[in-house]
Amino acid sequence: MGKHHIYEGGCLCGALRYRATKKPVGVAHCHCRNCQRHTGAAFVTSVGFTGDAFSWTKGQPALYNSSANGQRGFCSHCGSTVSFHWLDIGTDWVHAGTLDHPETVTPELHFMTKTQVSWIKLNDGLPCYPRYVPERKGSTEGDPAYTEIQKELKRNR
Ligand SMILES: [Zn+2]
Ligand SMILES: [Zn+2]
Repeated sequence: MGKHHIYEGGCLCGALRYRATKKPVGVAHCHCRNCQRHTGAAFVTSVGFTGDAFSWTKGQPALYNSSANGQRGFCSHCGSTVSFHWLDIGTDWVHAGTLDHPETVTPELHFMTKTQVSWIKLNDGLPCYPRYVPERKGSTEGDPAYTEIQKELKRNR
């Protein structure tokens, strides 16, 4: 304890910059179709922070509501897909590739692997969940119930 946790990052052009001042509440690879479409990548590594720990230090992202409770943030200048904001839970998630130092976070799991593309071969030993963790009742699209994931992770530790 006593160590300062500062995580900074931003978009490709530098118009968007963010800072988080606490350890992540979760680091997860998501294979859902929305993440694939939003980023153009086969899967996305998201790093979550509580709302009180996260702030934009330069610019503000353009926002797209990809689900009732989720907003995806991107740079309106360079197009970098930077963030996901879980509105009901109040967490702010950034894509690990936008961190200045992506190696400072440690992924914990994969989820939504039911839509994992077949040419991605996982061999990292992390738990894989076909859907959300656990599945979010009533939700048919979009994004994981991150607080539920955290509960699940704590149970498994
Ligand atoms: Zn940009
Ligand atoms: Zn996703």
